[in-house]
Amino acid sequence: MKRGEARLLEHIEKTFRFPGDRRLLLGPGDDCAVLRHAAGRDLVITTDEIVEGTHFLPRFATPEDLARKLLRVNLSDLASMGEVKPVSCVVGAGLRRDTPRAFTLRFMRALKAEALRFGISIAGGNLAGARENHFYMTVWGESSGSRLVTRYGARPGDLLFNAGPLGRAAAGLEILMGGSAAEKKLFPGLVGAFWRPEPMLAAGALIGREGLASAMLDNSDGLARSAAILSGLSRCRVIVSVGEGACSPDLRAYAERKGRPWRHYAVNGGEDFGLIFAAQARKLAAIKRLLPAAFVVGRLEKGSGFEIENFDGKISVFEHF
Ligand SMILES: [Mg+2]
Repeated sequence: MKRGEARLLEHIEKTFRFPGDRRLLLGPGDDCAVLRHAAGRDLVITTDEIVEGTHFLPRFATPEDLARKLLRVNLSDLASMGEVKPVSCVVGAGLRRDTPRAFTLRFMRALKAEALRFGISIAGGNLAGARENHFYMTVWGESSGSRLVTRYGARPGDLLFNAGPLGRAAAGLEILMGGSAAEKKLFPGLVGAFWRPEPMLAAGALIGREGLASAMLDNSDGLARSAAILSGLSRCRVIVSVGEGACSPDLRAYAERKGRPWRHYAVNGGEDFGLIFAAQARKLAAIKRLLPAAFVVGRLEKGSGFEIENFDGKISVFEHF
């Protein structure tokens, strides 16, 4: 996401923040919107898009890759709200005129299989001609009644946690963009992390049900950007401090091969789609016990803005190419 794009998003969120609809419990600015449609039954809704030239290049994207990723990035937003059961989706595509029919059929087949895998239906969609291929989806789920987790509740003194991969998708994208054939063979897990992020629905549900987090979002644009968002919305200073344990062995091997610190990928890299959450320090033991895959990646203090400890590389908030 570019800086200008972030500013535009802020403006959009301000414009629509108070729509005067009492059923809208949570409006623009979070991972999902929340609509009350019956007492105690809230609808949790999000939308996302994958655009050729922004999120992928045709030379390394199969229709199956695109279908899987489209569904997963949307589900990841549901996961970041806490205990939400995905229900259904509508899907759309803008396709170049020269797109082979077989491509579209394969996309649909893969999307159906993926929806089945996550137990949701495909309720409808739209198809149009376009100059660049793009694929978009709106997905919704139901909250079960346990409190949803927004981006707004973090407090000074909280710890910052990550559950899920860090930096692996960015390394995967780098390999897809310009890696050698040997690198593609050596690091299938990194490439897989880019194309098949695992929406952390079970972890998100547990965090919501157990009331572990004070604020949460999914890590779509990198740890630095997530820290900036949390800092702005929760009005805290976020100190990001990523320990050696956060580095997966394949990312370590890849970063060494490229002569770059692995934190370059972990801090700046986007599209990991893990969960970033703030939690009171007294919850540390419970989090370790209930969610052993989560680890501390920083802390929150009084103040504003964010800083990155133990990494002196350039902090560039993640930009798509
Ligand atoms: Mg999100």
